[in-house]
Amino acid sequence: MKHYDYIIVGSGIAGLYIALLAIERGSVLVLTKGNIDDCNTRYAQGGIAIAMGKDDSPELHFKDTVAAGDGLCDAEAVRILTDEAADCVADLIKFGVPFDTLDGEITLTREAAHSVPRIMHAGGDATGEHIEVTLSRQVRSTPIKVLQNCLASEILVQNGKVIGVRALDCRTGSVEEYHCRFLILATGGAGKLFKYTTNSDVVTGDGIALAFEADAEICDMEFFQFHPTVLRLQGVAPFLISEAVRGEGGILRNVEGHRFMLDYAAEAELAPRDIVARSIVYEMEKTHSDRVFLDVTHLSPRLITTRFPHIYSFCQDHGLDITKGLIPVAPAAHYLMGGVKVNIWGETNISGLFAAGEAACTGVHGANRLASNSLLESVVFSKRVMQRTEMTTPPRHYKERNDKAISYCLPGREMLSKAPSLNVPNLQSLMWDKVGIIRSGEGLKEAAGILATWQSLLPQPSDRPSYELDNLVLCARLTTEAALLREESRGAHFRTDFPKASPEWQRHSGFRKSVIK
Ligand SMILES: Cc1cc2nc3c(=O)[nH]c(=O)nc-3n(C[C@H](O)[C@H](O)[C@H](O)COP(=O)(O)OP(=O)(O)OC[C@H]3O[C@@H](n4cnc5c(N)ncnc54)[C@H](O)[C@@H]3O)c2cc1C
Repeated sequence: MKHYDYIIVGSGIAGLYIALLAIERGSVLVLTKGNIDDCNTRYAQGGIAIAMGKDDSPELHFKDTVAAGDGLCDAEAVRILTDEAADCVADLIKFGVPFDTLDGEITLTREAAHSVPRIMHAGGDATGEHIEVTLSRQVRSTPIKVLQNCLASEILVQNGKVIGVRALDCRTGSVEEYHCRFLILATGGAGKLFKYTTNSDVVTGDGIALAFEADAEICDMEFFQFHPTVLRLQGVAPFLISEAVRGEGGILRNVEGHRFMLDYAAEAELAPRDIVARSIVYEMEKTHSDRVFLDVTHLSPRLITTRFPHIYSFCQDHGLDITKGLIPVAPAAHYLMGGVKVNIWGETNISGLFAAGEAACTGVHGANRLASNSLLESVVFSKRVMQRTEMTTPPRHYKERNDKAISYCLPGREMLSKAPSLNVPNLQSLMWDKVGIIRSGEGLKEAAGILATWQSLLPQPSDRPSYELDNLVLCARLTTEAALLREESRGAHFRTDFPKASPEWQRHSGFRKSVIK
């Protein structure tokens, strides 16, 4: 069996960027459960936030990020994010990501809750596609070994230290062990937990579930961001209509034509995502409709077609000319703020185990992510993982985040004699209805009982769908139990029975398999 210095699970921005840095330092294996470009990164539209405009500064970016995080951002991590952004974005440019320019200068756009234009983009609204294609092309030109259709199924730990990973070959069904000095989970979030989602099919919370099973700490799972504007067209899979469309002047109207965001927030369409998403839900309820409309018909057709070519042509292909007609939209699950708890070096509480990208919870997003900070977080903290692995071998003692967080065990629950049958659509409907944008204690308890019952009935997984279902059920439990614990509303977590933020809850909480701190 070959031993690698670095094994990286996942081939989105976090996995590929780490791989490209790591190959300078040792042998690298990347495992990915589909094709190399099956990931969320590829779908990112808006871009990547960086304070480089003339009225901008890392300090202002810091302030906007902390404001969006609603009292739960880790200030040290946010400082790192905003201060180290330029260096990491320079790496992306060096690798060849073709960010859009005008007269030789990188063009910046504005998105909700950013004080100034700050978002770099590529191909207009095809930023993620350009990043993924560029990084995977670079990876192919190096000795990095990539195993596609290879699903990591268990983290191997010996004497408290990671020694490798067990993985399933999804085509043959055989299981192999791969050993390493450093294992990095870059498996993305868990967007497939919900019925309506912008996420790729591969985003099933695997890394979070594997880490939990290995006894790593998982935190902030109750904070799931729902994107306000996702195309809602009969028979068409959810397709994101980027925040940047509102940033460029798009207006939200209910089905009666009323511009409703002015009734909910002074910033109107540019209010934080959680406020816009909830306002849309209220308007849909009020008007008995399953959608509202995004109106860009007052913008110049040239601006729309050049700035949003991808969105324009996707809608056009489905019979909708957005320069002339309103875009039907509704919220959908989009981004997980929580995940595998890491410190400012991407380290987990298990020696040799790191997490990066959306799978990790670095604390930069707090209770609500500022748009376009996630691609940035992926590169900034991936680079720190690499720096950490260079410092000592093996890494020195794990330094915890100083955030007074409490880790709990997942609570036991009474098994239900009658629960709906377990399959992915039923799980996604349960999560959407009871653990979605607007939650209540009653609904959460109901979901928690069903999920615990489902978990007790799961057979031994043997193929990719059964491993993914296992992981989804565990992540659904972690999300639901965390939402039940948090008896307040903050950021993306909203409960009708506790509609206000509580000072008592200005803290993180999470779960760990074996230990109560
Ligand atoms: C539609 C959309 C638009 C977005 N727009 C933006 C934006 O404009 N700006 C921004 O900052 N963010 C945006 N985001 C969020 C951002 O794209 C993601 O947070 C980011 O790309 C996550 O990168 P990642 O590398 O952590 O994970 P991903 O890109 O999701 O990659 C995860 C990888 O892990 C692999 N994997 C998972 N489980 C296993 C397993 N068990 N074994 C092996 N491999 C596994 C997957 O196959 C995949 O390769 C958007 C997200 C979506 C869905």
